[in-house]
Amino acid sequence: MRPVTESEIRTSFVNCTKGEAKRMAVPRDLAGKPWDDLDFFGWQDPASPERAYLVTPHGDGLIGIALRRAAQTGGHIRRTMCSLCLTTHGGVALMTARKAGKSGQNGNSAGAYMCSDLACSLYLRGKKDAGPGARLHESLTLDMQVERTVANLAAFVAKVRA
Ligand SMILES: [Zn+2]
Repeated sequence: MRPVTESEIRTSFVNCTKGEAKRMAVPRDLAGKPWDDLDFFGWQDPASPERAYLVTPHGDGLIGIALRRAAQTGGHIRRTMCSLCLTTHGGVALMTARKAGKSGQNGNSAGAYMCSDLACSLYLRGKKDAGPGARLHESLTLDMQVERTVANLAAFVAKVRA
């Protein structure tokens, strides 16, 4: 994706209030992010790791989704498959997003298992290692795997906006 600015990020969110978008923690080192290798950009709030955010290109602009990581039940970390990039590792968590608009105000949300560091793009490209056995050997090319991840994310974004 192309590099994005802090103000583009803050105005892109569809499922939180303007005040929340203004206050949210946006990474300071945006210029240093590996934009060429990112299909979407996600980050965790360093002050409250149960909060995470992602922004994804949409037409000429961006769509931002605020996420919450569900509390882990049980003591041990289970390996789960990310529904976006299909990487299986211990860092996958159920992430829920309040739905946009009226539906969200009525308490509705959408959830999906995702890499909790939202680094799916880097796992796909082998730029970040999720450990042995995390990536299936696939006959799909990287481009096709990227396309599939983008489609999976678009489906999740559609659910949040529905
Ligand atoms: Zn992932």
